[in-house]
Amino acid sequence: MLVEDAPLERSLRPRRLAEYIGQERVKETLQVFIDASKQRGETLDHVLFYGPPGLGKTTLASIIAVEMGVSLRITSGPAIERQGDLVSILTNLKAGDVLFIDEIHRLNRAVEEVLYSAMEDFAVDIVLGKGPAARTMRINLPRFTLVGATTRLALLTGPLRDRFGSVLRLGFYSRAAMEEIVHRSARVLDVPISEEGVRALAERARGTPRVANRLLKRARDFAEVRGEGAITDKIASDALQMLDIDDLGLDEIDRRILRSIVEKFNGGPVGIDTLAAAISEETDTIMDVYEPYLIQLGFLQRTPRGRIATDGAYAHLGYEAPAESARQPVLFGGAKG
Ligand code: ADP
Repeated sequence: MLVEDAPLERSLRPRRLAEYIGQERVKETLQVFIDASKQRGETLDHVLFYGPPGLGKTTLASIIAVEMGVSLRITSGPAIERQGDLVSILTNLKAGDVLFIDEIHRLNRAVEEVLYSAMEDFAVDIVLGKGPAARTMRINLPRFTLVGATTRLALLTGPLRDRFGSVLRLGFYSRAAMEEIVHRSARVLDVPISEEGVRALAERARGTPRVANRLLKRARDFAEVRGEGAITDKIASDALQMLDIDDLGLDEIDRRILRSIVEKFNGGPVGIDTLAAAISEETDTIMDVYEPYLIQLGFLQRTPRGRIATDGAYAHLGYEAPAESARQPVLFGGAKG
């Protein structure tokens, strides 16, 4: 679900801030920062984006680079294993460049420490030699802009978080913004789509542009194979049905999560690891990909004692909600994250 068809996705990515749909507050804030630093002829201060996957963090990083007229270098927390890896990335940057680190909460401690002085002083200290003969050497770096992205702000250490000039949250997109995104992507992909088709895809894309683009591409496949190439109302609804996506955009895994809490854990509370084991999914995937939208819909609650399925979840699954007193007391570990 999160793997992109790379070349295609790149063309679907808005290049300029003006083309970027939705997230009005984030856009406005960025525009001010960009204009101000351009006026002063300075490098843009470090920016951190956080929010669920597929909402446009990487896209914004590349927009920042385009708007500032500099190059973008993309890497991710888990990809930088040793201090030396980071030092080599940093020393290869040119003045003003944007360095984008995705999943920045997954940087290891040793690497993170190098990043502190790089962000603050635009310098890194490297240790030469070993034992008593070891000495440190300071290497000055060009001024650069670090753009960090994370799905879990809470996992970021205080010192790292404090070194960002601004911390911006991306939330799920509104229905209107999602429709605009589907329209735009259909134009880019050059696939005709009916108004009803746009609405159906936008409605079920769980407020997430990446999901909208994925649904659009699957609907296009469907249109090419089963239809005349255009995404009509019927093609859109048949495609969604084949993908097993319901009226609210929930897929099989979302429903398994809810059904498991309701059927196996009597509505909860149930600890996230227990829940993950019960449906054979990764805890991280549930927390990053599925849970935020279920919470947004009001189907799931995160409590200190674990996850709870709400009455809305019961209704969506076609069950009658239990009386409050019948809910199961907590048996396994509490909530995480
Ligand atoms: P993230 O880095 O948050 O996981 P991305 O920046 O990779 O998300 O965005 C996923 C896809 O969604 C992109 O390829 C892009 O095509 C699309 N997208 C994201 N934000 C927007 C937007 N505001 N308008 C149009 N398309 C968008």
